[in-house]
Amino acid sequence: GQRGKSSLPHARERTLIAVKPDGVQRRLIGQIIQRFEQRGFKLVGMKMLQVSVSEMNAFTMSVCNSSVTVDVSVVKVSEDLLSQHYSELRAKPFYPSLLYYMTSGPVVVMVWEGHNVVQTSRTMVGTTNPTEAQPGTVRGDFSTHVSRNVVHASDSLEGAKREIQLWFQGQELLNWDCCDQKSISEV
Ligand code: GDP
Ligand code: MG
Repeated sequence: GQRGKSSLPHARERTLIAVKPDGVQRRLIGQIIQRFEQRGFKLVGMKMLQVSVSEMNAFTMSVCNSSVTVDVSVVKVSEDLLSQHYSELRAKPFYPSLLYYMTSGPVVVMVWEGHNVVQTSRTMVGTTNPTEAQPGTVRGDFSTHVSRNVVHASDSLEGAKREIQLWFQGQELLNWDCCDQKSISEV
């Protein structure tokens, strides 16, 4: 099936998790890392960066149902990291404001590894729109509006692979043995 083609054994599935700029500003990095550690996943890569802004531009976004033109240092979007990361969303009306949000400050990107980590981390993160996110999820505990939903999590095995390659060089990811691995999983 889908997993049979993966080069990683099942227990070594990996996903990309990012604390978005609002999560960093609100000092939530530690609490978010803690949730993945205590669940039993293994951190294999982490870095802090701010996606650079390369071109002065202006864009129009909708604020409280009216159009507002915002003059900001956004973004030669065509080739950069974020436009690849969010390539599926390019046609969405909120795409410019998404880029503005994601470049507004530092992000912390991480790669977490473990059994079924892609799907389980989506559950831990909660629905895209925090209005529907269950309490106990990151978004359900820390956010109220879809425009500031604190975290990113890859949504599929293929997406995770693509996003990990986009954000990390191979040598930035560490293969290391967790001393408690036999207590976490038999595989
Ligand atoms: P995710 O995989 O749960 O993060 O959701 P998507 O991949 O569908 O969207 C990516 C990100 O775009 C979301 O996490 C939000 O930050 C943002 N986003 C999605 N829908 C909206 C929207 O309707 N308005 C705004 N402002 N941002 C949105
Ligand atoms: Mg997504």
